[in-house]
Amino acid sequence: MKIKTLVKSLGLGAIAAAALLTAGCNKEAQTESAQSSAAAQQQQTFKWKLVTSWPKNFPGLGTAPERFADMVNEMSAGRLTIKVYGAGELVPALQVFDAVSQGTVEMGHSGAYYWKGKAPASQFFTSVPFGLTAQEMHGWIQYGGGQQLWEEVYAPFNILPLAGGNTGVQMGGWFNKEINSVADLQGLKMRIPGIGGEVLKRAGGTPVTLPGGEIFTSLQTGAIDATEWVGPYNDLAFGLYKVAKHYYYPGWHEPGSMMEFTINKPAFAKLPKDLQAIVRVAAQAINQDMLNEYTTRNQTALIELKEKHGVDIRPFPADVLDTLKTLSDEVVAEVASGDELSNKVYQSFKNYRDQVKAYHAVSEQAYINARD
Ligand code: CA
Repeated sequence: MKIKTLVKSLGLGAIAAAALLTAGCNKEAQTESAQSSAAAQQQQTFKWKLVTSWPKNFPGLGTAPERFADMVNEMSAGRLTIKVYGAGELVPALQVFDAVSQGTVEMGHSGAYYWKGKAPASQFFTSVPFGLTAQEMHGWIQYGGGQQLWEEVYAPFNILPLAGGNTGVQMGGWFNKEINSVADLQGLKMRIPGIGGEVLKRAGGTPVTLPGGEIFTSLQTGAIDATEWVGPYNDLAFGLYKVAKHYYYPGWHEPGSMMEFTINKPAFAKLPKDLQAIVRVAAQAINQDMLNEYTTRNQTALIELKEKHGVDIRPFPADVLDTLKTLSDEVVAEVASGDELSNKVYQSFKNYRDQVKAYHAVSEQAYINARD
């Protein structure tokens, strides 16, 4: 024992030696008990359920939470196992938030803008028209105060939110008629949800909300004239090129849609610190992973749409985008004026967007223009 050697080498008297020995033993006992409680924690296993708003294994959106679960299982050596459920398997797609909030399940994977009826400010945490790109969104969340605000928005629901993947800039959508001017938006029946839909309405169109599974038939039968979905990768898989003539860009309405992991706070609090860290790190890895996957699969799908299926890919006219932008700014400001917390989030979001816009004008944007 080290203490005994120390006593001997110092030539201490019996009392001093005894005191030192007792102190040493207490310290050792404390260390041992800390080690054994840490060991007990190391042996404790947790089984979580994660519900999603996507069909099981849906490319990109649905495969991301599966990868997350695999990663957590591996990193924790099986101490935290997470079973992933597709939409409707345990709870319907749009009840993910409630299930996590009530603790029916420990985790969810979805999009924050679906919960605008519960917390209007949540809309800023997926994507808003003419808002932030994926890179900018991740910057705002992680280093620009976005995460703290997001936690504040979800606090009344007992939910800890974490970024859970990003599609990057989406496509403008599939149209059965040409859009050559703002006048062509008049009476246009388009599947486009959320704030983008409200903007289209103000431009004279008729927004329609349809689940993904009904888009193809609605376009085929002429029930709608146009639709947005995600981007080349998911749109190709849906076969939308078979039922619409023109594929427009860019997706002004969803410039970088960020997905979310939602975690039941009491369940998270029960995890030892190292497992909490594993959950956070795995979520962060998946957030970047999804963007990398979309970047790669979208570009190969774009080539296939163009070369194999002869799709007409064209940009929206500049004046159409200008009008949509003016209307978007109006609608987004109105959303923000609805309640105090939305306004607080909007101010932070807007300041970040204005500043990053100036920076990206001389970096990403300038470089991409120079490269092309
Ligand atoms: Ca979309």
